[in-house]
Amino acid sequence: MSLVKEVEQAPTGHADAAQQYVNEVFETVQKRNPGETEFHQAVKEVLISLIPVLARNPQYVKHAILDRLVEPDRLVSFRVPWVDDQGTVQVNRGYRVQFSNAIGPYKGGLRFHPSVNASIIKFLGFEQIFKNSLTGQPIGGGKGGSDFDPKGKTDLEIMRFCQSNMTELSKHIGPDTDVPAGDIGVGAREIGYMFGHYKRLVGAYEAGVLTGKGIGYGGSLGRKEATGYGAVYFVEQMLQNADLSFNGSRVVVSGSGNVSIYAMEKAMQLGAKVVACSDSSGYIYHEAGINLDTIKRLKEVENRRCEEYVLEHPDAIYVAGCSGIWTIPCDIALPCATQNEIDKASAELLVHNGVKAVGEGANMPSTLEAVDVFLENNVLFAPAKAANAGGVSVSALEMAQNSARLSWTMEEVDTKLQQIMSNIYNECMSASEEYGLAGNLVIGANIAGFVKVADAMIAQGV
Ligand code: GLU
Repeated sequence: MSLVKEVEQAPTGHADAAQQYVNEVFETVQKRNPGETEFHQAVKEVLISLIPVLARNPQYVKHAILDRLVEPDRLVSFRVPWVDDQGTVQVNRGYRVQFSNAIGPYKGGLRFHPSVNASIIKFLGFEQIFKNSLTGQPIGGGKGGSDFDPKGKTDLEIMRFCQSNMTELSKHIGPDTDVPAGDIGVGAREIGYMFGHYKRLVGAYEAGVLTGKGIGYGGSLGRKEATGYGAVYFVEQMLQNADLSFNGSRVVVSGSGNVSIYAMEKAMQLGAKVVACSDSSGYIYHEAGINLDTIKRLKEVENRRCEEYVLEHPDAIYVAGCSGIWTIPCDIALPCATQNEIDKASAELLVHNGVKAVGEGANMPSTLEAVDVFLENNVLFAPAKAANAGGVSVSALEMAQNSARLSWTMEEVDTKLQQIMSNIYNECMSASEEYGLAGNLVIGANIAGFVKVADAMIAQGV
C-alpha cells in the first residue's frame, strides 16, 4: 500500500482536520521555498506520515508545531574565496542551516559537492531533526556544505578551501551551539583542516566543535565505520523480525564512500555476498563477490575510481553510469550513494528481480514513488532517518568523550552503536504499531522522531 493510502486508512479520528492542516503547511513550504524540489520532497514525506499523530494529538496543531518545524531557525550562506595551485582566485558558496535546537545543539554534517544548493542543504537539515531525535541523544538538527568540488583538487587546495570556509563558518558554530561533521566530500582530512583553522580563530582547543576528527586529536574510534555498520545492524534486525538474515544473502550496495565501504564490510562479516558497488561515474559488478581490500585501497588510500577495480579483477565488469546498478538481481539493496538514486523504474526492477529488503544508507536515496513501490510490494524497507542514524549517533558519542576528556575503545563504541540502532528499530516499530500501521518504518521513524521534538518545543514555549 502506498504511503498516502496507508495514512488515509489508518484508524484515527479528526483525520480531515489534520489532513487540512498538513496541506496548508505544505502549500506554505512550496510558496516560501520556490523550486526547492528536494526540500519539498523531504517535507512532504514527513508531513504525510504525521497526519495520524496530529489527528490524535490536537495540541501539536494548536502550538503550530509543523509551521515552526518547516522554517529553519536560520540559514546562512556566504562567499568562500580561495586560491588554487595556479594562483587563480576561485569563489564558492558555503551554507549552514540551523533547523531546530529543541533537544540539543544543532548537529549535522557538511557536504562538499557541486550539486549543493539551498534545497539540498535544507532537505538534509530538515531530515536531520528527526534522525537525531531518533538516536535518543541530545542533538538538534542542522546541515551545511558548499558547492565546492573536491574531485581532482590537491591537498593544498583542499586545505585552503577548508580554511576559508571555516573563517566564515566559525562565526556560527561552537560545541554548545552547532556541531558540524562530515558528509559527502568531507572526511577526516577536511575535518582536520577545518578544526585546525577553527582552533586558530578562537584561540582555544574546543574539541567538541566538530565530529569525525582524527583519532589522535579527539576523534572517536568507530566513527568512520558507524553509518555503514549502523545501517547493517538496523537492517539485520528488520530481517530477523521476518525470519531472514544477511547470512547467505546476495547484496548490492551503491556508492564506495565511507557509508558504502563499511556497510559492505559489516554485511560480509554477517555472511552476505556483496556483488556490486559504484561511484559517481559507474558501477562494478563482480559475481564472485566484491573484494573489499581492493575497494578500500582504491578509494581510501589511492583516491582512484571504481573503473580501475576491473584491472585487478578481470572477472568483474565495469559499467559507466550509476543507475544500472539496480538492474542487478539481489536479495538486499543498500543504496549508500546519494539522494534520489532509486527512482520508480529502478524500484520496480528491484521488486521484479525479487528484492526482499531495502536499507537506506544514504540520505533520501529513494524517491517518494520508489518508496511507494517498495511498500506496495511488501518489501522490507528501512528508511534513511532510522537506518543511517548510526553515523550521527557515534558523532554524539564523540561529543560525549570530548566533554569528559576521555576515549572509549572500539568495542565500547560498537556496543553502544548496536544498542542505539536496536533502540531506534524498536521505537520505529512501536510507533508504527501505536498508529495502526504496524511494520511501516517510514511512518514509524517520522512519528517517533517527531514526537520528542514536538513535546520539547511545547515545553519550551514559542
Ligand atoms: N552526515 C551524516 C548524516 O547525514 C553525519 C552527521 C553528523 O555526524 O553530524 O547523518
